[in-house]
Amino acid sequence: MKFRRGKIAGMCAVVVMAAAYAGAQELGPGFTKVKDGIYVFAAKDGNSTCSVVLTQDGPVVIDTCQTPPDTHRLMAGIKKLTDKPVRFVLDTEVHNDHTFGHWVFSPPAVVINAEGAGEAMKKGFDPKRLETLTAQSPEMAEAVKGYKIIAPQLEYRNRMTINLGERTFELYYLKNVHSEADTAIWLPKERVLFAASAANVRSFINLRPFVRIQDLLASYKLMKSLNPEFVVPGHGAVSTTKIFDEYEAFYTLLMKRVGEMAAQGKSLDDIKKELKMPEYADWTGQNNLPQNITVAYESLKK
Ligand SMILES: [Zn+2]
Repeated sequence: MKFRRGKIAGMCAVVVMAAAYAGAQELGPGFTKVKDGIYVFAAKDGNSTCSVVLTQDGPVVIDTCQTPPDTHRLMAGIKKLTDKPVRFVLDTEVHNDHTFGHWVFSPPAVVINAEGAGEAMKKGFDPKRLETLTAQSPEMAEAVKGYKIIAPQLEYRNRMTINLGERTFELYYLKNVHSEADTAIWLPKERVLFAASAANVRSFINLRPFVRIQDLLASYKLMKSLNPEFVVPGHGAVSTTKIFDEYEAFYTLLMKRVGEMAAQGKSLDDIKKELKMPEYADWTGQNNLPQNITVAYESLKK
């Protein structure tokens, strides 16, 4: 009797799961439904994630996708879900592969990121990028029509709360974790966290020189303390807080090894030549190891 009940329960679980994901399939390939009204899109593995959160008062977009055709795919998906205009675009960082597509939504949407985001976007602006993209393919040329740079119209300092319809979005500024302005976005009722690029999925991250390992570790601690059920990384599949544990272990080991070698009097160049992380041989982005070492070395001085 017990066995039969278990079997039926198992079958029910399969049926429920299939129904929950049917919504994402209707939106097209690359969409994942995280929870009711919360969808993540990435055209292929490793691309930046871009997401939409539906509310009674209109949708909110989080990041605007890896490429302009992807931005239009996200917009087409949103139009299948609602006829309301996008109210806000929330950026998790400033880089192009998350922010180039702003113009597809704004205006009328208002773009928001932490203080310094607009300045960094303008500084990183490549005036030739539009030309290069247009020359890439007819599809790309079509996708970039009407492009103009849209910097965030609103910048906040440290924390911001947005109440829209039935949802609450809490924005947390993450200092020195990836770009000049990084934001984690937390939906407390739904327990879904958009974690920016402080941690991705089993990949050596392209750490900029100003990133500090202590700040990365502090961001994992903060984000874990929120107790999310689902974590949406800046790149990679929807996961859980296990990605924070993995990166915490990785950077802790990296700091330990760099620290030991520096204490032996080795120069940064020597350390870069000698230090290996064989435990992480299956992570992607191995070419980023040397600059991860540089950042760890600089972090030792803090
Ligand atoms: Zn980035």
